[in-house]
Amino acid sequence: MIDPFGRSISYLRVSVTDRCDLRCVYCMAEDMTFLPKAELLTLEELERVCATFIRLGVRKLRLTGGEPLVRRNVMSLIRGLGAKLGHGLDELTLTTNGTQLAKFAGELKDAGVRRINVSLDTLDPAKFQAITRWGKLDQVLDGVRAASDAGLKVKINAVALKGINDDELDRMVEWCGDQGHDLTIIEVMPMGDIGEQRVDQYWPLSMVRAQLKKRWTLEDIDYRTGGPARYVQVKETGGRLGFITPMTHNFCESCNRVRLTCTGTLYMCLGQEDAADLRAAVRASESDEPLEAAIRAAIARKPKGHDFIIDRRQAPKSVSRHMSVTGG
Ligand code: SAM
Ligand code: SF4
Repeated sequence: MIDPFGRSISYLRVSVTDRCDLRCVYCMAEDMTFLPKAELLTLEELERVCATFIRLGVRKLRLTGGEPLVRRNVMSLIRGLGAKLGHGLDELTLTTNGTQLAKFAGELKDAGVRRINVSLDTLDPAKFQAITRWGKLDQVLDGVRAASDAGLKVKINAVALKGINDDELDRMVEWCGDQGHDLTIIEVMPMGDIGEQRVDQYWPLSMVRAQLKKRWTLEDIDYRTGGPARYVQVKETGGRLGFITPMTHNFCESCNRVRLTCTGTLYMCLGQEDAADLRAAVRASESDEPLEAAIRAAIARKPKGHDFIIDRRQAPKSVSRHMSVTGG
């Protein structure tokens, strides 16, 4: 699948549910209304859509959400997709908040998952509770430990939040180095109404990097995972540190991704509203032809890029849906 700008689309991210057991302040409002269950694709339909994408050239799948591990029977989908590894699919991964990992780590490994991303913005239990509105840090740390014990390679994702975790990133770099986890820091994006000002949370990674350089030696390296992060190696810990900069640096020119929601809506860009309804195509026929045609038509209108703006002086340029709809 080649889009109008010559980019090859080989990576599909699938938000398997918009629901979550946490309510991170930058991601959701406290009183979120979730989709009625009747609107969701069944797990079988999700698997069929993924299989069609793989036939059309997708090599890498990431399951996300909402919290993917809270969808009932999600392991049956993960096992089904795992069976496609080596048969068109090169990698199956997951982005999770980690709360359910103690339960699922072994099953994920058995299903063929090798690497997972765990979102963790702080190592301070009180701050963790404040950021997630009701999460328990220990539950996530137990989950991360279970994942490592099961043989899963864990990468920690932290969103840089001004006034919240800006005093903690040195500690996170140190902890990740000690535990053998890569760490990726992400700029907060203006996605959905969260009931507070984005500009109060936004902390550009150019500033994060400058702060980290006071304590650590950051060496540029050529490592890539197929996602948008740019990596350096932290000389003192030997760990890798990634930066995802949707706000200060536009990485769209090398975008290889599209995103499917749990209702079968395909977003060709995280930062744009245009979407294609694949649910109608899945349900139109037993044959996969209408679905393939709908996917090809969608790729043919993948936009060049996004242009988020967070600034008090300009009209906000943002996306109305929450991050939990399209997933990270
Ligand atoms: N619940 C899972 C988790 O937290 O890892 C998967 C879904 S979550 C939406 C995926 C990633 O998006 C997380 O790393 C989260 O920190 C990030 N995220 C959520 N809202 C964001 C925002 N407004 N800007 C930047 N990243 C965001
Ligand atoms: Fe849930 Fe992940 Fe959003 Fe936090 S970032 S509310 S864990 S979906």
